[in-house]
Amino acid sequence: MAETIIELRNITKCYEKDTAVIEGYNLEIKKGEFVTFLGPSGCGKTTILRMIGGFESPTSGEILLHGEDISKVPPNKRPINTVFQKYALFPHLNIYDNIAFGLKLKKRSKQEIDQKVKHALEVVDLEGFEQRHISTLSGGQQQRIAIARAIVNEPEILLLDEPLGALDYKMRKEMQLELKQMHEELGITFIFVTHDQEEALTMSDKIVVMADGRIQQAGTPEEIYDEPSNAFVADFIGESNIFNGVMTGERKVTFCDQEFVCVDDYPVGTKIEAVIRPEDAVLTKPEIGKLKGEVISSIFKGTYYEITVLHGKNEIVVQGQRDLPKGESVGINIEPDGIHVMPYDIAKNHFTGIIDDEMRLRFVDNSLKVDMTRIYPGAVLKDGLLYTGNGNYIATEGVKVDAYFNPADADLSDDPEAGTVQGHIVSIIYKGDHYSYIVRSKNEVDYYVNDEYLWNIGDYVSVVIPEDKIVYHVKS
Ligand code: ATP
Repeated sequence: MAETIIELRNITKCYEKDTAVIEGYNLEIKKGEFVTFLGPSGCGKTTILRMIGGFESPTSGEILLHGEDISKVPPNKRPINTVFQKYALFPHLNIYDNIAFGLKLKKRSKQEIDQKVKHALEVVDLEGFEQRHISTLSGGQQQRIAIARAIVNEPEILLLDEPLGALDYKMRKEMQLELKQMHEELGITFIFVTHDQEEALTMSDKIVVMADGRIQQAGTPEEIYDEPSNAFVADFIGESNIFNGVMTGERKVTFCDQEFVCVDDYPVGTKIEAVIRPEDAVLTKPEIGKLKGEVISSIFKGTYYEITVLHGKNEIVVQGQRDLPKGESVGINIEPDGIHVMPYDIAKNHFTGIIDDEMRLRFVDNSLKVDMTRIYPGAVLKDGLLYTGNGNYIATEGVKVDAYFNPADADLSDDPEAGTVQGHIVSIIYKGDHYSYIVRSKNEVDYYVNDEYLWNIGDYVSVVIPEDKIVYHVKS
């Protein structure tokens, strides 16, 4: 097992007071690994990279290099170099001087500099380019020079912040392979940032999928693709069909109104999310398909057709070898190992509050008038007091209550007055016949709501939770 080179321990980063852009971040990076931070824009990838490079400090937590805390070590004293998306080359210097810049600052001998620049140019496949000017190079070549300039210092770790982001598709593909080769040749640790999942899958030994400043899953590309740990990862990496379902037997799962044999086992009754990759949903004749439906679209994707089938109210995306007309009846079968089952996190949508002197449940985002007889079954409310059967009254004030609602029972509205809590939509996942939303309140509480209408990320919405659908549980 390779030794750990970088360890991030419980890192939190707040740029502005109280707003954490990175939270509870724990990660070990092994010597020589090619690690990729992958996630949507704004999830904190660059922030993590800048903290490792020393350009930002964590608000709390530790960054260890070979087991030593490096929080006090300035960037230029860390054995780490960075390649940025914008190449940041010196336009007035030729290529030799661009690459030699750092070594000259360190007052290395002419002979040593010559030899190292030559070697760096060999690694990036631009031998003989020493005297050329930056302006005469293509974008891909400039990025290679930026890499040469970083590796000439022989860092232990190379940080690459979306280095291929400015390149066109073909050049990007070429550079991906070359970077991977360079990584093998140099044998040093690469920490790479991208929001492109295909790039991450192609290049990495380990992918760290991030959302909202937190790690969603860290694993090999195969683990991340085949065994996503939650619906966000499944949705973000590759194409997925995601359905809500329930375990209905030993290795049997029901979703889209059909029972399937699967390889995962959870107790009967467990609510789950089932992930089916389009390539694992096999088109067949309607008579022999477990799911049956009509084609609603067929899009050519180069090597296959992406076909959407409507089964009941659910849309299922499958890969087909030939174009199918709209309205065609088809069947779909899914092998047990094509179904990835994830228990649905029922810890969601719990909000805890305290009962006040007016029998309202006060929680961080609002307060709710609660029917106390639902919290204390059998009790009777009379003259503002809650009585048990034997005539004693219950002191409700100060009692802590946990309230829970099912995402399917709530609705979204654009009328701020309509709902129980308000917030911005921070996540959308399509589940075949509805969208699954996360609404984050200004107090950073997340509410999960299913809605069949399509809202957008960032929309300010009201979460309408019907009183009678809230389940209460006395905590103390
Ligand atoms: P992208 O892919 O768009 O570059 P990212 O995943 O790299 O995004 P970061 O650049 O790390 O994300 O930003 C994470 C969050 O921190 C964002 O909300 C961003 O606005 C905020 N942020 C980043 N730098 C600063 C700063 N210097 N001051 C205040 N907020 C910042």
